[in-house]
Amino acid sequence: MTDDVEQWWRELDTQQQQLAIYSELRQIREALQSESPQEATEEMFDCTRCEASVTRENRQRHARKAHKAPPDMIDELFEERA
Ligand SMILES: [Zn+2]
Repeated sequence: MTDDVEQWWRELDTQQQQLAIYSELRQIREALQSESPQEATEEMFDCTRCEASVTRENRQRHARKAHKAPPDMIDELFEERA
């Protein structure tokens, strides 16, 4: 069985290997999302200065690291995603 997979893998070119990995990843991601819908809908906030979306807990760290903003600017720096 393992030998068959290796043989199959060797016959693919690089682009086909990447596609195989990508479709595998997508299946894993979809499986994970359907198993834990709570995490997928975790409250997210959009930074108004860049395109970043962060969780509630990560707002302060993003503000400080990305924009050198003090903690009291968090409320105006982020918009809660609708
Ligand atoms: Zn930002």
